[in-house]
Amino acid sequence: MTAQAAEADARTVVIGLEVHVQLETATKIFCGCSTDFADAGPNTHTCPVCLGLPGALPVLNEAAVDGALKLAKAIDGSVPERTWFDRKNYFYPDLPKNFQISQYDAPICEGGTVTIKVEDEQREIRIERAHLEEDPGSLEHEGGSITRAAYTLVDYNRAGIPLMEIVTAPDFRTPAETRAFLATLEEILEYLGIFDSSRDGSLRVDANISLVPGEYGKDEPIPGDVLASADRTEVKNISSHRGAEQALAYEVTRQKNLLRRGGDVTQETRHWDESRGVTVSMRAKEAEADYRYFPEGDLPVLRVRERASTVEIPELPRARRQRFQTEYGLNAEAASKLTSSRAVADFFEAVAAQYDPDLAATWVADNLLGELNYRDMGIEDVLDRLDEFERLIELVDQDEITVKNAEEVVLRRMLDEGKDPETIIEAESLGKTDENVVETAVDATIADNPDAVDDYTAGESDAIHFLVGQVMQRTRGQADPGTVNELLRARLPDRDET
Ligand code: ADP
Ligand code: ZN
Ligand code: MG
Repeated sequence: MTAQAAEADARTVVIGLEVHVQLETATKIFCGCSTDFADAGPNTHTCPVCLGLPGALPVLNEAAVDGALKLAKAIDGSVPERTWFDRKNYFYPDLPKNFQISQYDAPICEGGTVTIKVEDEQREIRIERAHLEEDPGSLEHEGGSITRAAYTLVDYNRAGIPLMEIVTAPDFRTPAETRAFLATLEEILEYLGIFDSSRDGSLRVDANISLVPGEYGKDEPIPGDVLASADRTEVKNISSHRGAEQALAYEVTRQKNLLRRGGDVTQETRHWDESRGVTVSMRAKEAEADYRYFPEGDLPVLRVRERASTVEIPELPRARRQRFQTEYGLNAEAASKLTSSRAVADFFEAVAAQYDPDLAATWVADNLLGELNYRDMGIEDVLDRLDEFERLIELVDQDEITVKNAEEVVLRRMLDEGKDPETIIEAESLGKTDENVVETAVDATIADNPDAVDDYTAGESDAIHFLVGQVMQRTRGQADPGTVNELLRARLPDRDET
């Protein structure tokens, strides 16, 4: 091995993320335009403010501020006494006013941590800051490629969607950790009710990565000058958890190979090409000075710490997971499944309030989630059917139908046909007939068929089949033939011994 190769191998992977998430609000951050444009035509949700027309003035949406404050609380970040907005100047058609309203030196949230778990190893990822800004419009390059397109279309529906940019410390040591972080972050945002992961482009990631000289343990701090002097690349255009892991894995290999051959990593911005699975050089990294930040004079300074004290947040996923284990005695896997979303956890707790938690866990985690998943449905599709679902469990619990029928017939048809459990049980004659009903039918059959009884006692073997058939008819087929046979033989007079 060459000395260069040995040196390259003795490096530590360092990754920091800048995550942009869209906050779920009814209207945009600085105007009254609706954010609900998934099915709308381009540029239909716009006004002078989000189009950046001269003279139009922004008015801050307080729901966006509250969303940001919820996140700050959830990650245990600190909220300053005062915060304000700044103009980040750049010239690009996605923002026609030529600056983005963002935050620079007074972010709404400073510090904080997010705890992640990768293969049973727990790590604390520090958050440096999280700030509010407006989303730019979106560009559509003809044919999909920015380099080959003959023209580009601009859609300003997205311009002005509230964005939160969350900047982590360079605390990640593997690409897999970034994936776990994004999943955890999304889960927190979803619990807070400020994020919709199903929305296209609701999460976008820029990933910074360097291979710093020297080998550091996972929780061993890397000196600031080592971090600052490392040659790093910033990978843009990542839009999924998996994309982050793949792009960074590619980048680790690319940088390592370069260094092993004695080359240098160029500080630059690279673009993740998802379809080809590679990162490509885009441009030299812009420096902060390029943006000529200065305070946004059209918006007031916010006394935001005061406001933060009025904002409430729900129990968060990790705490809820732990509580499910202690309070309901669930194992880690079940607790994790049942807290995968706030709606699932609420659904489970509603069921567990009525039934044995183990039974509730089996029905929600295994049966319901399994069948929903199979149908590409989610818990949100059955939220208003909680009591139908509970009635189904009740019917099983009361022994009215078999577990097998409940799971394999009733639940599936409830989901496929939208019918309630009783209707399905009735239509399919799935109701279990209890012993009393069968016994009554057996007694009545014996009383009504003296000839057959005589034949039986005389030793005629067909007589018993006839009587079983009569009982089955009386119980409309719901009795178990074996049980009927036994009950009949027990109640019929002894056969003649001939
Ligand atoms: P910039 O001035 O380039 O924006 P910042 O210090 O603001 O740099 O950091 C931006 C992101 O880069 C953060 O997520 C941070 O964790 C990450 N970062 C900083 N140093 C490194 C490094 N040596 N390797 C990888 N990522 C880093
Ligand atoms: Zn608008
Ligand atoms: Mg920065």
